[in-house]
Amino acid sequence: MKRFKIIFTGLLAASCVAASVIFACGDAGAPPQPAPPAAEAAQEPSAEAPQEPPAPEETTESMAAAPAPEPVMASPHFAMEEYRCDCAGHCDGWPAAMDPELLAMIEELRCACESPVIITSGVRCEARNAEVGGVAWSFHKRGHAADLYCPGMPVGQLAALAQDVGLNILPYYSSGYIHVEN
Ligand SMILES: [Zn+2]
Ligand SMILES: [Zn+2]
Repeated sequence: MKRFKIIFTGLLAASCVAASVIFACGDAGAPPQPAPPAAEAAQEPSAEAPQEPPAPEETTESMAAAPAPEPVMASPHFAMEEYRCDCAGHCDGWPAAMDPELLAMIEELRCACESPVIITSGVRCEARNAEVGGVAWSFHKRGHAADLYCPGMPVGQLAALAQDVGLNILPYYSSGYIHVEN
């Protein structure tokens, strides 16, 4: 009985194969046409080709723009890089994020000065803060302070403008800059 089953299964398989061969032959019965599909395949790319050139041009343009990536701006007049921790590798430059409100007030101060403002210190990691003799509770460590000056403008005048925009200040008259925080 078992053997019969096996034989039967074998016959089934054989007939399936035969059937598929027949179908295959049926297809192949028509004149061999391997060429047409190949020709079609060859035609398709060439048909699309005219549409492709514009795309590469765009890519080239965007690639040409890539070498000069636009700096991340902290505000219209300041690049975020200007606030980066300037230690010699103790941190990745951003031990804390700069407070957006502080950045907005410094921008406002810059506009009030109507002249470039230079950031000499933004955020500081623990090591950098200790290095420059900053106090332990320094707002610089939390991204809530910056030291800056406006070339050509007296410290007192800059300090007054900073106060006007709502910044808490600490003027360093002898060093020629002010510390601002919020
Ligand atoms: Zn650092
Ligand atoms: Zn400071």
